[in-house]
Order: sequence, then structure tokens, then C-alpha cells
Amino acid sequence: MGHTVRVRYAPSPTGMQHIGGVRTALFNYFFARSQGGTFILRVEDTDQTRFDPRALQDIYDTFEWLGITADESPAAGGDAGPYVQSERLDLYRSYADRLVQAGRAYWDYTSARRDHDAESNSGEAGGYNYEGRDLTPERVAEYRAAGVKPVLRLLVPADGKTSFDDLVLGTIKRKNKDLPADPILLKSDGFPTYHLANVIDDHLMGITHVLRAQEWVPSTPLHLLIYEAFEWEPPRFAHLPMVMGKDGSKLSKRHGATSLIEFRRQGYLPEAITNYISMLGWSYDDSREFFTRQELEDLFSVEKINKAPAVFDYKKLDWYNGQYIRRCDDDRLVELLLPYVQAAGWAAGSGGDGAGAEDRERLAALLPLIKERLKLLADVSDLLRFVYEDVNSWSLDDLIPKKATAGEALAWLDAATAVLEDRPLPEAGDDAAEEAYTEALREAAESAGTKLGNLMMPLRVAITGSRVSPPLVGSIRELGMDEARRRIAGARAVLAAAAEKNA
Ligand code: GLU
Repeated sequence: MGHTVRVRYAPSPTGMQHIGGVRTALFNYFFARSQGGTFILRVEDTDQTRFDPRALQDIYDTFEWLGITADESPAAGGDAGPYVQSERLDLYRSYADRLVQAGRAYWDYTSARRDHDAESNSGEAGGYNYEGRDLTPERVAEYRAAGVKPVLRLLVPADGKTSFDDLVLGTIKRKNKDLPADPILLKSDGFPTYHLANVIDDHLMGITHVLRAQEWVPSTPLHLLIYEAFEWEPPRFAHLPMVMGKDGSKLSKRHGATSLIEFRRQGYLPEAITNYISMLGWSYDDSREFFTRQELEDLFSVEKINKAPAVFDYKKLDWYNGQYIRRCDDDRLVELLLPYVQAAGWAAGSGGDGAGAEDRERLAALLPLIKERLKLLADVSDLLRFVYEDVNSWSLDDLIPKKATAGEALAWLDAATAVLEDRPLPEAGDDAAEEAYTEALREAAESAGTKLGNLMMPLRVAITGSRVSPPLVGSIRELGMDEARRRIAGARAVLAAAAEKNA
């Protein structure tokens, strides 16, 4: 390879990091690592009207949470800095002058009002009809006398075409006359637009490959015209496939969470997010699904990026998350779950962070009950509510299995309780005893003329207050037989009253 790979993630701090942005960041990072190259974080904050300091912080938080570090960035510094565009304004202006001198850009005095919209999308707000192209010196003088500040526009040639070989999409060709009309490079307040700042920085920072979202494809020919005007060699481009919802429309809030912070709050693990997002438009082969971050750093390649849109499947992400929770070591899982236990008000406290050693121990002891069942960390509150809180009201709808009567449910609760009273609960981890216990329950179900699931349901609801619960025998062991008996009696009274009424 000629020169070493230098890539960048160049977010605009205008909103919280979303799935598409995280995917772009990860692909650039993995590509750099797999090539022994350099990964740069550049903050594109030239649109001061949409700048949001929380969005800037969110960029840094996202990197930290994902565990990815940029080799050059506002925090790490680097030879090509500063890495924040608002700190590079003089540079953009001096380069812009060069374009004017070369006759490739011109000052337009007719657009002062329109340039406010110039940044709100990738191109022009629309409506420009080249009015500013050939102003006579007299007209310019009039505008100036009136205090009008000009915008700088790229002179897009009327003839010819601009094309590039996209590493993902192949050859893309556009007639210059179909490109947006002379896009603004500098706004009247002297701030550069995305197009100008992005090209100058990619060049000055020695970017070799631009991996970015497909929504930028229409801007790329404009960027190439700017490279050409500067007589700079452009980088290679790889536009990443769109991310769609299951219905085939662009992923949006209608489909569910889209910003990383929402996923974090719901309790997704960084390794699950990293793994799943890396599969959005990239695959190593057709079957392999699990990759550690290190493996992605080794194996990632641009050749394996797909052209076709990727579908974001929330269920699949949940599945990954469950898988990674099972793989998580217990100490870490306790720390990850504690905030949810605290938020539910179940931590006794005493630790500096509001949770103490006893809270950790209690949760650690409960892990075997839930580790196999958690999809999201936040699920812990539903799964363990019955342990931390009393269960003292039972809904008949829950207590009575589908298509059964109150009388049947009562009989099944009694039959299951008889097994409980008849034999000691198996010790935790004693698989053989657990097996025998289940067998006894199964026999009781058979004698009662029903399935094991039906027999267990009233008991499950009596104990946990819910139809979905951790494994029942373990749950009872956790509560102790005394508490279990108390709850069974309470639920039994509800069922008995209903059975009476029906009789
Ligand atoms: N600042 C642009 C964005 O937020 C960067 C696009 C690019 O990578 O060129 O998406």
C-alpha cells in the first residue's frame, strides 16, 4: 500500500449520536485498526445555530462507552489539529481566497438572506438562480455601500461531468449541470459551510479514505470539484449502506430507539451494540455472528461492506444483548445491574454510590435466577420485583391459566403446593435433585389431568405476582418456605372466592 490509511469520523454536534453515526464511527475505527492506520475524530461545529453542547459531550461519552479511542482528536491532539472546526476559521477563509483567485469561486452579494438556510441540508436551500455570478462592479459597489455582506459560492461548471469510483457503490457519475447551483462555501458571517470545511480538513488532515453515510453521495461531486479547484488529490470514498427499519423506510423514531443514549439507558451492553451495529451493512462471511471488538479490529475490511440497505432488527439486537449478558462475568453484571436496582428503590445504600456491599451480595446471590433470562439490563426490575417487594395482590386473570376455570386453577395450586410440602427444595446447583423435583411436579400435573405449565402457573403467580418469572423452584428457595406459604395462602383465598362464586 502506498501510504498509510488515515480516516476520520466527523460528527456535527447538533443532536445525540444515533445508530447511523455510531456505525460510521465504528467502521472508520475498525478500518483504521485493520490497516494499521490512524483514526481521527473531528468535530464539525461550523453550524453555530444548531450547535448543542450536550451533543458534543455525547460524542465523547459515546466513544468512551464503546471503548474506542481516536489517535488524533480534540482530546488527544495531533499534528493536524486543531480538530474542532470552529477553531480553524481563519484557515478556511485563507483557503477560500485561493479559490477566488483561481476563478473557481465568487462573492455573491445577492444571497445575504438566503444563506441562513445554507447549512440546514447537505446542499443549497434552493432557489438560487446564479443572480450573483456576473455582477457589474457598479452593482457590487451599491451592495457594499448598503452594507450587504456577500457569500462565497463555488462556480460549478455548466459543462462536463464529475465522477468517482465509490469503494462500495462503484462508479458514480453526475453531469455538472445537474449539480446543485453554485453551493455556498462561506456564509455572510464568514463561517464556512460543511462542503468547504469538510474538504479543506480532509485534505489538510491527510485523509485517505472517507467512509460516510450514503446521504452524502449527492455532495461528493461538489466536493470533487472543490478538490479539483485546489488541485488536490481527493481521498477514496466509501458510502455506507442506508439503515432501514423493518418496513423498508429509513430508520427513525417511529421504529423505536435510534439514539445511543436511549439504548444505553435501556441496558444494552457496549459489546452487544458494537457487535450488532457492525453487522449493519458488513459481514465477514454469511454465517458468523459473533465478533469481539478485537476481532473486528483485525478482520474488518471495506471490500465486505454491502451495497444493499441494512435492516435494523430490534429483536435481533435484543437477542445479541441476551447472549452477551450470559457471557458477562458475574462481578461485572452485578455492577451493571445495580443502577437499575437502585432506581427501583431496592438498594439499602451505605456505599458512596448509594449501593453498599450488602446490595451487591444480595444481587450476586440472585444472579443465577435471572442471568439466563435477561434481555435488557432494565428487565431486572420486572424479574426481581417479587424478591424485593411484597406480593399481596393477585389478579384472577393471571392466576387462572387460559381456558381453565377458577376451580381448576385452585385444584392445580393445591396439587403443586402438596409437592412443595412433601419434599425438601433442591439445593441450588443440584441438577439431579432439581430434575427429580420437576418430575414430581410433572406427575402431579398428570394426576390432575393437566400439563406441567398449567399446574405451575397459579403457583408461579402466587409466588411472584407475575406470569413471567425466573425459574420457580429457585424463586421459592430465594424467598424461603415461610414467605412462600404466606403468598400461596393469599392467592388461594382469591381463587377460592372466585371458584365459590362460579359454583
Ligand atoms: N459533519 C458531517 C456529518 O455530520 C460529516 C459528513 C462526512 O463524513 O463527510 O455527517
